[in-house]
Amino acid sequence: MFHNARFKLTAWYLTIIMSVSLLFSAFIYKGADAELSRIERRQQIRVERFRAQFFGLPDFPEMFAPVSVDEIRERLLVALGIINGGILVLAGGAGFFLAGRTLRPIEEMVQEQNRFIADASHELRTPLTSIKTQTEVSLRDKKLTLTQAKSLLVSNLEEVDNLQSISDRLLELAQIEKPNYFVFAPLDFKSVVREAVAKIKPLAKQKQIAISYPHKSQMMDGDRIRLTEMLVIFLDNAVKYSQKKKSINLSSKITGQSLIVKVTDQGIGIDRQDLPHIFERFYRSDKARTNQYVSGYGLGLSIAKKIIDVHHGTIQVTTKKNQGSAFTITLPLKQPRNIL
Ligand code: ADP
Repeated sequence: MFHNARFKLTAWYLTIIMSVSLLFSAFIYKGADAELSRIERRQQIRVERFRAQFFGLPDFPEMFAPVSVDEIRERLLVALGIINGGILVLAGGAGFFLAGRTLRPIEEMVQEQNRFIADASHELRTPLTSIKTQTEVSLRDKKLTLTQAKSLLVSNLEEVDNLQSISDRLLELAQIEKPNYFVFAPLDFKSVVREAVAKIKPLAKQKQIAISYPHKSQMMDGDRIRLTEMLVIFLDNAVKYSQKKKSINLSSKITGQSLIVKVTDQGIGIDRQDLPHIFERFYRSDKARTNQYVSGYGLGLSIAKKIIDVHHGTIQVTTKKNQGSAFTITLPLKQPRNIL
């Protein structure tokens, strides 16, 4: 598909360049032709005068012989032909190269989208298959009791919840790519921290995990809703990947023109081989995948990373197996005026 598009784009480049080149050549030829015709006429007049003055001379002396204008015309045509041929070859090569470069980002985007669709369908298939199989088995069971039917409905409802949260996350990922999705404004990071901690507290309470967090005001530019979402993702992971009765520390400090936010947990840590991939969409470590008590689809960190990127921030991770992980997010305090 992209190979064809590259040839088509090259053909378009060539058509435009050659139209301009041929048009200029035609103008040059026409101008030169008019000039040559004028010279030809003048020469003719001079020859006539010469003949009248030196009437009777058998031949013209060599030096007075008229220049052949047709020969000049021919040479000009050949030169223009060679120049246009050269332009055709050069523009063809350059056009083909440029068409490749123009199409590469689009090709990568399409490949990325296809991969995303394949991954998303794969994730959606698991809960759907589970619902389908359980329902089919129960329907075939002639002795199905009311209690069993109710337990099937409960289990199906859980799977539907899973489907809903996958689709919410997928929607979120799609929305994040849209221009103007982020609404930047001056904000107090304290309110972001409060809101995120309030959302995670019930979950942390279930595992008797304590969360310590800062209470001071810190003014910055950003999208309050998205920054809260980002913190929720880090805190949620910190809770999910920690054993019971551990603690989580959320800290934030201003250094120069940046706000440095750090989420530290005492959880299971991240394996060295997983570390380069944790921000990729749908990436889950084997440990997370196989542990049925840890829910997730590998979308949280990719959303968090996107939010940080849009805020022109950076993220760093340090981790130690079975001792915990620390995510350090650096966000600029001020955003460019044009996005506020
Ligand atoms: P999810 O948590 O839904 O699997 P994420 O994108 O949030 O997806 O995280 C990707 C992977 O990174 C997780 O599967 C897990 O293996 C690892 N991870 C993220 N945060 C932590 C953490 N605080 N401690 C240990 N592992 C983590």
